[in-house]
Amino acid sequence: MWGTQPEAEPPPAPHRPRDSTSPPVTPLLVVGVPGSDLAGLKAVLAPLGQPVLEAAPWSEELESPLEEDVACILVDARPDWSAGFETAQRLRGHEATRHIPLLFLGGNTCEEADLLRGYGLGTVDCLVAPFPPEVLRAKVALFIELHRRERVMRAAFERTGKAEAAARESERMLRTLMGNLRGMAYRCPNDPHYPLVYASPGVLELTGYSPEDFTGFRVLWQKLIHPDDVQQVWDGIQAALTARTPFTLIYRIHTRTGEERWVWERGGAIGESENGIPMLEGFITDISAFKRAERHQSFLASVSESLASSLDYEDTLAHVVQQAVPVLGDGCLLDMAEPDGPLRRLAVAHVDPARAELAWELARSYPQGLEDPGGAGAVIRTGKTELQEHLSDEQFVRYAKDARHLELLRKTGVTRMLTVPLRARGRTLGALTFFYCHAGGRYDAEDQLLAEDLARRAALAVDNARLYREAQLAVELRNEFLSVASHELKTPLTPLHLKLTALSRELPRCCAGDARSEALQRHVGVAQRQVHKMSTLINALLDVSRLSRGKLKLEPADMDLSEVLGEVAAWFAPEAARAGSELRVEAPPRVTGWWDRLRLEQVVTNLISNAIRYGAGRPIHARVEVVGENARLVVRDEGIGIAPEAQERIFGKFERAVSERHSGGLGLGLYITRSIVEAMGGTIRVESRPGEGSTFTVEVPRAPTAEPRR
Ligand code: ADP
Repeated sequence: MWGTQPEAEPPPAPHRPRDSTSPPVTPLLVVGVPGSDLAGLKAVLAPLGQPVLEAAPWSEELESPLEEDVACILVDARPDWSAGFETAQRLRGHEATRHIPLLFLGGNTCEEADLLRGYGLGTVDCLVAPFPPEVLRAKVALFIELHRRERVMRAAFERTGKAEAAARESERMLRTLMGNLRGMAYRCPNDPHYPLVYASPGVLELTGYSPEDFTGFRVLWQKLIHPDDVQQVWDGIQAALTARTPFTLIYRIHTRTGEERWVWERGGAIGESENGIPMLEGFITDISAFKRAERHQSFLASVSESLASSLDYEDTLAHVVQQAVPVLGDGCLLDMAEPDGPLRRLAVAHVDPARAELAWELARSYPQGLEDPGGAGAVIRTGKTELQEHLSDEQFVRYAKDARHLELLRKTGVTRMLTVPLRARGRTLGALTFFYCHAGGRYDAEDQLLAEDLARRAALAVDNARLYREAQLAVELRNEFLSVASHELKTPLTPLHLKLTALSRELPRCCAGDARSEALQRHVGVAQRQVHKMSTLINALLDVSRLSRGKLKLEPADMDLSEVLGEVAAWFAPEAARAGSELRVEAPPRVTGWWDRLRLEQVVTNLISNAIRYGAGRPIHARVEVVGENARLVVRDEGIGIAPEAQERIFGKFERAVSERHSGGLGLGLYITRSIVEAMGGTIRVESRPGEGSTFTVEVPRAPTAEPRR
């Protein structure tokens, strides 16, 4: 067992934390043989100030690895040379102690041969007793010093090794990062030609040139920059250098194969070169895909705008076809399916107007049909996109119907063609064809998606326009029907009205004294009111059909609105009374103006009859007044009112704010009223709160307006 020296002044424990200024601890190990005076030996070594570990003569415990970093082992063989020799031999054979310097202390009986054997063991030194203690200490001190130096060296090596490993690791990481990043890092002096002194491997994918092409100055970065962007790039860098900020640039470059790419660059100055030029470092990445998506988006947005701008789809589609060039090719064609017969070419666009003319010529002389094996006809028939990747002369020959057709096809110079169907609600309405006339142009999956998206939007626009047209036609038909029907219905009403008037006049005379006369008179009165109501409804229908055709004619004359209000109110008084409403009129003696009397009467009638109908049996107030250049009519009731969301709508054709059951009208009164008021150059508005009543206010200019609205 190793033991520490029991003497006073114990040396510091080997593992105790120490402050950095005290000398490092370097333990010594003394191994004795039976009869050794280890205490004496330790006393000799004590002045060296190092812990002295002690081991008994060879024992099993010596097999355990040395835990201490021992500077030197002293084998005391003074009492028994051969026992000491054997111990030393074991120490030499042991893995943990093999490399520790061994100082062999022999007795004075030692032969020279023994000494030689001792050296042969690989011991570093042998001392033969008696030896002066200073000699022993001097030798051991030397080992201590050597050991310390070795320790320092080892630590230094370890540190450099670690630093080197760390540097290697970060370089490897950087390389992996650079290799994996889609983009490149560079370093170059601030020179308008940008001679790169470093380019990361990503430059190859970005430009098609290797890093060495740049660092060997066979290629200068400036040569790659799009000529239109060169100045902007240089200015951007110089401005950032002046402001001492990093720079961000977006510009175009040309790759080795001539392909144009958009790049994003972020860089800054990192010190100066030996000759004082600022050095730039930065990162450049390819943003072509992003730019392309951006272009596609704005293209679709502008196309959608065009499509929504008008319902004349032939015009808008022709515009869209123009917009598609050059985004989706050198040229674009639009062919529409026709019920019978060949396709109808609706629009052509081409970067070269001469070739556009050629496309028209082809459609005129050799129109495509639904039975065609390929092209627009086949796409409309199948509803499926068709991509022709490499159009060869052989295909033209096969496709051409005659020599002239072949000649025209060849002249087009088309190399690639993408045809997409215009589909809406399960029907294919036509086909859009995009094409390139040079070898470089190609269509990838993204182009195809864009083309299909465009076709879908176009088809929707066509479909909507057609639906609109159909709806318009239906409305026209309805109006025509209304006009015919209301005329026909009105015809028997006039004699019926006359007959009822005659009847009510005759009744008192011929049935005087008859008890049933009064009841009969009441029946005739009801019939007269119903006939009046029916003729009002029919008149409204007639007005609507007139308004739809723009045939509302005004016949203005000098007249008095107060008088009209008085007459209408008098006429409605019995009806208002039946409904339980008091009709209060407020009007100055005369409110004159230049108006169509019958039409103005209609306006007042509509508002008062509505006030009675929806007035909930409460008072109704009707008022006319002069307001500046205008005459104002206000009809207010305290009835059911109108929900805010319905207040605009009720002025529309056939619009009602209450259920059909409660209205009893056609929803035309306010529509006609507003049409009349506007034709007179006036306005109508409503203020209302549900449950509290409504106030309708009409204002019409008193003098004829320069330009009536209708
Ligand atoms: P209608 O023949 O149905 O009365 P109008 O065009 O005259 O048609 O009125 C349209 C709708 O406006 C009515 O159906 C009713 O819901 C609402 N309305 C009109 N006047 C009033 C009013 N004075 N009070 C409440 N609701 C009204």
